[in-house]
Amino acid sequence: MSSEKKRGAYIRPDIESLPAYVPGARPPAGVTMTKLSSNENPAEPAPAVVETIHRVAEQINRYPDMNVTDLTETVAAHYGVEPANVALGNGSVALLSHALTALAIMGDEVVYPWRSFEAYPIIAQAAGATSVRIPLLEDFSHDLDAMAAAVTDKTRAVIVCNPNNPTGNVIDRDTLMAFIDKIPPTVAVFVDEAYQEYVADPRYAFDLADLPRYPNVLVFRTFSKAYGLAGLRVGYCFGDARLISAVRTTSTPFGVNAIAQAAAMTALAEQDVMTSQVEEANAERERVVAKLRDDGWNIPQTVANFFYLPIGEDAAQLAADGVAEGVLIRGYPGDGVRVTVGNRAENNRLVEFLGGYAPNSSTRR
Ligand SMILES: *Cc1c(COP(=O)(O)O)cnc(C)c1O
Repeated sequence: MSSEKKRGAYIRPDIESLPAYVPGARPPAGVTMTKLSSNENPAEPAPAVVETIHRVAEQINRYPDMNVTDLTETVAAHYGVEPANVALGNGSVALLSHALTALAIMGDEVVYPWRSFEAYPIIAQAAGATSVRIPLLEDFSHDLDAMAAAVTDKTRAVIVCNPNNPTGNVIDRDTLMAFIDKIPPTVAVFVDEAYQEYVADPRYAFDLADLPRYPNVLVFRTFSKAYGLAGLRVGYCFGDARLISAVRTTSTPFGVNAIAQAAAMTALAEQDVMTSQVEEANAERERVVAKLRDDGWNIPQTVANFFYLPIGEDAAQLAADGVAEGVLIRGYPGDGVRVTVGNRAENNRLVEFLGGYAPNSSTRR
């Protein structure tokens, strides 16, 4: 650390030097934006959800139910588990962070694939833990053998992102369970299934009926993606009662606000809305990916509401050009670009934008 005097309070040097989470880009003023950078659901919320929000807004002088009782029971019943096996949080990112805080202290290790979700390095560092990043295989899938081999007596958690953000590929259940069986039972396995609803086939998710046999597993889901409530911040996780209790202990008190609790209940009841929005997104993904592949773009397998352009050194330039033209896509400098599936018009704009480039590059035609 430099000896240069800093203004103000002492901040942990490992936190002060941490790059902040990079949110989806914003376009310059006057340019209409096609926002395909944050994996949001492009459809408007169900009318019943908006009605709930209006109704609860009138009682917002009151604190929310700190134990999130109704929503916890509703989520538990929906998935066929006990309320003691469910924790709700201020987004699933908050739950991932609370869980790590409960498990790891300075010097402990967290193993996760890379590239993967940008929040992992931040929550690991915030917990004081050391990140052990295992590079993806050439087809952009998790290197599960290397991840299992990276577990040491300092490892407290191993994160699986399924489907993986930003690459979109998925691990089937047999492979996932064979991997979990290789991890020592004292090490937690976080299965981040933020996009599970887009994977129509249940053979590509953790089977919650297996939870009693795996007291070291936490499965994370969210209302932010398929359920379309990204702005409200509600996530949930499933696990053994002991682990769930630890997550609740480290959670911010009253972390899930009253409007979010009520709106999530309504969203869960409106299954048809979610299902039809997911079908629409999946159909659009297939249409756009097929068109771009026809045009020569190399796009790895994807089952989520986004796809990946592994263009390496050209990624930063293509993403920057997108911002200038109002097509917001997420660049991962040196690696690739992630594109969210939007609505039909947004996707057509994206295809038009990419049509201005030689495939798999940021070279303008
Ligand atoms: C979007 C996303 C989440 C969800 O985060 P919330 O805090 O629930 O909005 C979690 N994990 C991954 C991999 C994601 O892409």
